[in-house]
Amino acid sequence: MFNWPDAELWPSVTVEGGSGRAVRMAAGQRVGVVNTHGQQVVDTWAVTLTGERYLSMSHTRLAIGRLSPTAGDVLVDDQRQPILALVCDESPGGHDTLIPACDARRYRALGFQGYHPSCADNYAHALAGTGLGASARTPDPLNLFMAVDLSAAGELALVPSAAQAGARVVFEALQDLVLVVSACPQDLVPINGADGPRRVQLFIEGPASGTALGA
Ligand SMILES: [Zn+2]
Repeated sequence: MFNWPDAELWPSVTVEGGSGRAVRMAAGQRVGVVNTHGQQVVDTWAVTLTGERYLSMSHTRLAIGRLSPTAGDVLVDDQRQPILALVCDESPGGHDTLIPACDARRYRALGFQGYHPSCADNYAHALAGTGLGASARTPDPLNLFMAVDLSAAGELALVPSAAQAGARVVFEALQDLVLVVSACPQDLVPINGADGPRRVQLFIEGPASGTALGA
């Protein structure tokens, strides 16, 4: 299994709470995601460089045989091809794969008036800065560190993240891709704890092409 401490030597990118970033990755390249202050949900997407295929939660759930990936799992795209490997998970796990990205309609439904940042907007803006162009839709994200309780009756409950400060995961790209992350700006439902949203940190393995592209 991958040895985490090496990742602290990789180039680092800060993702401010409520914002998103995109990172171009070559096949074989790794990225660490650190939940700096804990309890921050990080919506995560991977898109191939042609923009034609994307990390798919429904296909991944079938491929891994579980609702949530664990270390060693290979996540797949919408054509069932391996796209990301979760090679290290030093968190409570249980990363959500069921809930869509927050968006303007979600905040309106929660009673918010005016513009509220959202993971859907963060995804669109970050992707637009990569040269892949705007996204016509938002694929369902892998919601890193997000806790959703599933009752025996099949009921879902969104609860505060159990991720401790410093909780961290590492992915390896299995195709050339753009990784997009959003430090979820949700502050009307307590998924990010009482003090969210807060910044997270990416550590991107060389070469230098693995630099942040979008803001
Ligand atoms: Zn969100």
